[in-house]
Amino acid sequence: MDTLASVNTRKGPEERPLLKAFLDLFFPNQCPICQESASAARYVCPDCERSLTGLLPTPFLGEGFGKVTRFCYFSEVDSVLYGLVKAYKYLPRKDLANHLSFFLFRLIDFWRASVPFIIPLPAHPASIRTRGFSNTRLILDRLKERFIPNLTILEPAVRREWSYRPQASLQDEEERKANVRDVFRMKKGTILPERVALFDDVYTTGATVAEYCRVLAPYVKQIDLFILVRRK
Ligand SMILES: [Zn+2]
Repeated sequence: MDTLASVNTRKGPEERPLLKAFLDLFFPNQCPICQESASAARYVCPDCERSLTGLLPTPFLGEGFGKVTRFCYFSEVDSVLYGLVKAYKYLPRKDLANHLSFFLFRLIDFWRASVPFIIPLPAHPASIRTRGFSNTRLILDRLKERFIPNLTILEPAVRREWSYRPQASLQDEEERKANVRDVFRMKKGTILPERVALFDDVYTTGATVAEYCRVLAPYVKQIDLFILVRRK
């Protein structure tokens, strides 16, 4: 089983001390969370790695709604995990998807949830273009590769780009709700299992997730929601 320390180790420099010394000297590596300098053999610095290792999943469930019967989230406050998510999404640091899949796996494992089918909350098309990847889909790809090989990743709905702005640009809860109304469309001929899991990295007001679940509801009996960071 992977540990955070093994996920956080870069294979090349770790195995070749001369290469590591060369990289540390000429290409100093900056920790994407705290901006302190870090060894070329690590993705995040030892301090942040320690803080991340000490994090435990939140031991209670969020309140369900509609067909969401189980609402699990790893962290509730702006923890170091949120620093990791922000670095992944906004620097952006695609290589941190492995770290985040590790925390998603720990969350699923903590609740002893069986997750055969999981859906990534569709990312905003403009964000996918800017980043070059879908933040939710990539974490699930890594989850399947490293932790749950028999996972089936489904993408039953798509986002319609023209009708709304990125949620992060809006503060007001009502504005966020109005902004995402009718932005998801089911793909034609969709048939889904009775029970599916839904994944998003950050949950703020929940407007986007709620709208997605509303579109999904006629097709399923039960939704398990998995979130890395729930903001207040
Ligand atoms: Zn750091």
